[in-house]
Amino acid sequence: MTTILNPNRVAAEEVAAARRSGTGTLRILRMRSIIARWKGEQRDMLPIERALEIEAKAWGALARIKITSDSDLPVAPADLADDLGIIVREVSFKESDISGAISRKDGGVVILVNKFDPPNRRRFTIAHELGHFYLHLGEDQEGEATDRVDFRRTLYGGRAHTMEEQEANHFAAAFLMPCPLIGQALRGADNTQDMSASFGVSEEAMSIRLKTIEKHPELLYAVQR
Ligand SMILES: [Zn+2]
Repeated sequence: MTTILNPNRVAAEEVAAARRSGTGTLRILRMRSIIARWKGEQRDMLPIERALEIEAKAWGALARIKITSDSDLPVAPADLADDLGIIVREVSFKESDISGAISRKDGGVVILVNKFDPPNRRRFTIAHELGHFYLHLGEDQEGEATDRVDFRRTLYGGRAHTMEEQEANHFAAAFLMPCPLIGQALRGADNTQDMSASFGVSEEAMSIRLKTIEKHPELLYAVQR
């Protein structure tokens, strides 16, 4: 079962510990730095251990559909859905700002994707929903996850939900732009535009991915090819 780290709870525990251990100004400074650290990490990226774990899961999913080298790009997330027996439907949502949804019900999993979104966006959405499947709707969670419908744009609010969204986005990025192939592409391509074209993602998605890797180069070595 996947344990989702709840930053609010961890921060509250750390603050309580700081309150017990320190006094006066030192105590306040310590609490401020704990809160700032947590806020910073949330903006920045998932905790690195979790990010590495997600990279490995995404690479495992790619192995399943035999994506191993840059000649297999761009990755087709629908192929993975097919292989997993997940039904993907392109639909028109009542609210146009919804990109996609996933639900696990009566033993079947269905992904819905906004048919009016451009192709790269739809691919990212399917990959994002597959991220929810791998990370939040695993087999051992079928009971708990029944009827779950998740929208890419946060409708529920709340930190725990945001953390799940961040995780699903990280999975999508790792799946569409796998680290082992990024290293290879970086040696060949000389701009983000060329790279985004070969990975079949938006330039924005590509540059976010590259910035994340630049900040955490250990991601490049998260999996062994
Ligand atoms: Zn989501």
